[in-house]
Amino acid sequence: MPTLFSRIINKEIPATIVYQDEQVTAFKDINPAAPIHILIVPNVEIASTNDVQPDQEQMLGHLFTVAKQVAQEQGIAATGYRLIINNGSDAGQEVFHLHMHLVGGRKLGPMLMKKD
Ligand code: AMP
Repeated sequence: MPTLFSRIINKEIPATIVYQDEQVTAFKDINPAAPIHILIVPNVEIASTNDVQPDQEQMLGHLFTVAKQVAQEQGIAATGYRLIINNGSDAGQEVFHLHMHLVGGRKLGPMLMKKD
């Protein structure tokens, strides 16, 4: 069964796609955590970082090139942004189709909440 993000990539369910090529799709997060919150997703289904294969290195590196381009287009390249990949339950991964969050447009605060 296709993942939620595959259905967005294949235009079966709506999303605001800001970039797409043969390897990668970028679209606006439906529940943004910052003024700019874009998800950058491989078009092929990879459940999580744990499932990455060596022959996917080029394609996964391309996520960064797309992140740079989208950040420029969204006007946050100079002010800064954060790239986040959640992996597994401790990280709060909700959608098991590997994706990079691109967030920015405000001061993002500390990287992690510190807890005892
Ligand atoms: P993660 O917790 O890293 O798996 O992130 C999943 C992200 O997908 C969350 O930030 C959600 O807000 C986002 N999301 C869930 N459903 C949709 C959707 N239909 N369109 C866009 N973003 C979505």
